[in-house]
Amino acid sequence: MHVAHVLIAFALASLVRGQEPAAHGERYARLIVRDVHVLTGAGTPVTGPTDITIENDRIVRIGRVRELRQDDAVIEGGGRYAIPGLINLHAHLQDERGGRPMPFQYQLDLWLATGITTLRDVGSNREKALGLRARSRAGEIAAPRIYLYMYGGGDTPEEARDSVREIARQGGDGVKIGGMDRAPLMALLDEARKLGLRVAHHIGVEESDVRDDIAGGTTSIEHWYGIPDAAIPYGSQRFPADYNYSNELDRFRWAGRLFKEADPQRLSEVLQAMVDANVAWDPTLTIYEASRDVLAAQNQPWFDDYLHPSLGAFFEPDLDSHGSYFLGWTTEDEVEWRRNYQIWFAALREFADRGGKIGVGEDAGFIYRLYGFGLVRELELQQEAGFHPIDVLRHATVNNAEIMGMGHELGRIAKGYKADLAIVNGNPLANFKVLYPSGTGVYEDGEFRRGGTVEWTIKDGFVYRGAELMGGVAALVAEARRSTTLVRSGVDDVPMIGL
Ligand SMILES: [Zn+2]
Repeated sequence: MHVAHVLIAFALASLVRGQEPAAHGERYARLIVRDVHVLTGAGTPVTGPTDITIENDRIVRIGRVRELRQDDAVIEGGGRYAIPGLINLHAHLQDERGGRPMPFQYQLDLWLATGITTLRDVGSNREKALGLRARSRAGEIAAPRIYLYMYGGGDTPEEARDSVREIARQGGDGVKIGGMDRAPLMALLDEARKLGLRVAHHIGVEESDVRDDIAGGTTSIEHWYGIPDAAIPYGSQRFPADYNYSNELDRFRWAGRLFKEADPQRLSEVLQAMVDANVAWDPTLTIYEASRDVLAAQNQPWFDDYLHPSLGAFFEPDLDSHGSYFLGWTTEDEVEWRRNYQIWFAALREFADRGGKIGVGEDAGFIYRLYGFGLVRELELQQEAGFHPIDVLRHATVNNAEIMGMGHELGRIAKGYKADLAIVNGNPLANFKVLYPSGTGVYEDGEFRRGGTVEWTIKDGFVYRGAELMGGVAALVAEARRSTTLVRSGVDDVPMIGL
């Protein structure tokens, strides 16, 4: 058909149907996402192309829509790929870095533009986070769903119990802990169980290890410390005498030499015990990656347009900024970390193979990890660990939802589920890089061009255009660079966050 004929036919069709293209920031009584390939998140391969019908905040049907109604809103998918909205299992809401201000909207827009529709916040400023959660729920701000796992803890069993009761009183969705002695840890886990709160544990180098989480019923292990520690034949890791845990360089340098001290047989037993106790694992491989290749981490191309100056300043090596430990980082440190990753990958595969549940989180805002970009990198690293991309996607959707106890309505493209999805320019199974909000190089039909990105993110039925969000992020960053003096403006009351 001649181009002009196509245009006329298209115009006529639009007139006859009377439907409108979906607009950024709007929610509709009925929204038809037309002509998309579908990845449900359940570990099944691509189907379609087909249509997805959304009414307000719910998916009501997957299947071709023969006749559009007069007032339908429409997204023309054009054969793009629909995936469930990604869930970021390890996020921190941040409006400052190292005391320098940075608006919440910066990270919220980056997350949405990556197709992330749910955050499990594992520790941030409580009051501000509660406000954001309420405004997100009400649809007042463009933001992913927010679940708050608030910092609990205490030096005594009674303090630990009180902290959990206070979190329940304030309406927390769960409890985040780190760095606890055994007695208060066990009391905290007991109290959380009684109150029905899930617990995410970042184990430190401390008295307790994952065996205590197995005994006490922790929901998920964040990162990885505490797992190899539980498999070291006897006692402590072989730290040099001058090692000091308060020194960030010592801490991260020796972390990279931890997994090799684990006894493989014991490690298998620990992994099996985690599976038996239903303790999930959110490894956040991405947040340690700078340790195996610091130059790559410091030179990510999207920093040019999208790195906020407050975050950029925080990333600069400085032992007072948590995770900014690259002072005198050596070839040997990187080699040790690469070996550490290989054992870690194998442990993750074995854990999953034994029936364990792996989640996907990014922990961005530290160690050269940018919001959203960090989660995509996590997908790539889980593929590198040996998982099929279909399963990696399941980890980031269905598994994450189940780890949060939300598997009944989040994490899938399925009838009755919340209308949380991302419409992607390209097949993420072929290349997770298409999810980077900056796009990626694509070679197709003998031509190299800029491609990828999430075209639309739909959260709770609200439609957001990726390009619109990223345009806003670029403008916000440019303005901050013009006006930022890079003088600390007084550190906020955000607690120190471990990695
Ligand atoms: Zn964290």
